[in-house]
Amino acid sequence: MNVAQTPGPIPSVVILGGGTAGWMTAASLLQRLSRLGITVTVVESSQIGTIGVGEATVPAILRYFSSLDLDAFDVLRATNGTIKLGIEFDGWKHEGHSFIHPFSRYGIQAGPVAFHHLWNRLRAAGETAPIDDYSLGVQMARAGRVFLPPKQPRAEFEIFDWAVHFDAGRFALFLRRFCEARGVRRIDARLTEVVRDPQSGHITRLRLDNGETVDGQLFIDCSGFHRLLIERVLESGYEDWRHWLMCDRAVALPCAAADPTQLAPYTRARALAAGWAWRIPLQNRVGNGYVYSSDHISDEDAVVSLRRELEGEALAEPNLVRFRAGHVRRFWVGNCVAIGLSGGFLEPLESTSISLIQMGIDKLIHLWPDTRMAPELASEYNRLSVQEFARVRDFIVLHYAANGRSEGDLWRYCREMALPDTLEHKIALYRAGGQLVQYQSESFFDSSWVCMYANFGIEARNWDPLAELIDLDELKNLTRRLRPDIAVLAREGSPHREFLRLKGALAETRA
Ligand SMILES: Cc1cc2nc3c(=O)[nH]c(=O)nc-3n(C[C@H](O)[C@H](O)[C@H](O)COP(=O)(O)OP(=O)(O)OC[C@H]3O[C@@H](n4cnc5c(N)ncnc54)[C@H](O)[C@@H]3O)c2cc1C
Repeated sequence: MNVAQTPGPIPSVVILGGGTAGWMTAASLLQRLSRLGITVTVVESSQIGTIGVGEATVPAILRYFSSLDLDAFDVLRATNGTIKLGIEFDGWKHEGHSFIHPFSRYGIQAGPVAFHHLWNRLRAAGETAPIDDYSLGVQMARAGRVFLPPKQPRAEFEIFDWAVHFDAGRFALFLRRFCEARGVRRIDARLTEVVRDPQSGHITRLRLDNGETVDGQLFIDCSGFHRLLIERVLESGYEDWRHWLMCDRAVALPCAAADPTQLAPYTRARALAAGWAWRIPLQNRVGNGYVYSSDHISDEDAVVSLRRELEGEALAEPNLVRFRAGHVRRFWVGNCVAIGLSGGFLEPLESTSISLIQMGIDKLIHLWPDTRMAPELASEYNRLSVQEFARVRDFIVLHYAANGRSEGDLWRYCREMALPDTLEHKIALYRAGGQLVQYQSESFFDSSWVCMYANFGIEARNWDPLAELIDLDELKNLTRRLRPDIAVLAREGSPHREFLRLKGALAETRA
């Protein structure tokens, strides 16, 4: 049968892979397309398993929970999850320096003048207070305290967002149960063969090592770095960004918390000689990993370096992962769409992979095809996906390009490398007049870029002329009062673990 010539709604979707991407996709399709009456089959291999990392998110995850009518605190309870108010970048500007990229806005706006223009003007006038002092999110994170954003913020700095850390294995299991309650068919078997329609080239059937065959009209490749359908069968091609993002390996190793009563409400990314180490605090353990460039350190030495970073006893053997920064050239080919690691990967410096999965799901639902698989839908999906990856790439590359570390060839290379034109343009506009350029499909908005420019010492030569109309002494007085106000407000939150307990989100509080 030539699937492309039989018009009609898609009756069955087959998802290859039961990692975070596979189960997130299955859950969304079951919840959001239930009225179309589609059946969803997930094929996963417990022998092969999942990547086993991916525990820090960005605030978009809250939208995902809402789209499934899930309470975020129920998810936290089921996944040993914690609150994330931002990411600490330790040693990136230079050794010994630290700042936090919060999910919050800075300071106050003066009429139409954004705060960073005021801050730039104050800096030029000799005021040295770091921009961190104007962020409620940063101050809460540093104080280890949490409260939820006010519904009616009184000033810019009261606008903040939050995300979560969770145990990736538990999250996939949580979603699997969600899907099973809604009738998903799950097959635990290994793919052995892919059958395609000879005319259209569309995939029609998967053969599995347990003897089963699975037919479908739409196939979603969530097979992770294996890229079994999109790359191996459909030859999507791969855009390799290693010249901008040198790190190509990671080793992960969870450990016990040094002091289980203390729970940091943020991820830490600490720069090391050949890359950087993450620390993700969960309720019952700490996730750690070293993302590194194999040109600059051996796997053995990376493990040794990571062990030095652990704050408590290691709880597993090191898990080594290899990757290529970049993305498949075509995410949607024929009747197959790649979501998750099968579509591409950007290192987890800004915890963006899971949000890219969400964007993949949202686009697919928005462009939902019928059995004709109109090629225009695939083109649009591919156009947007490439843009989304490139926007995230630029933001991550900025962290490397702006580093001021004194040690390590990797860091020198990154300072000297030619940047993507789109990023070069953004930095140039900021330097010229504090201008913040936003392209289509951005994942990071003004405050995030301001955070990077300000903390890496990328200076604006000029600012909004309206900022000049404000009396300088008045501005100094205002900002001097603002800083302690923000610090005091930050301390009104509950200590992180206590906050989770109050919300019924501690795993041990489960009935
Ligand atoms: C080092 C590292 C750190 C990361 N940290 C973060 C982070 O902090 N935040 C974030 O958002 N993201 C992070 N990510 C990305 C995140 O882990 C992934 O986006 C997420 O886990 C989704 O993975 P996946 O489901 O695409 O792939 P996987 O988890 O690898 O799942 C692949 C699935 O395909 C199945 N499969 C494979 N081959 C076959 C076969 N032959 N037959 C049948 N089934 C098969 C497997 O069994 C598995 O179920 C990180 C990634 C890495 C590498």
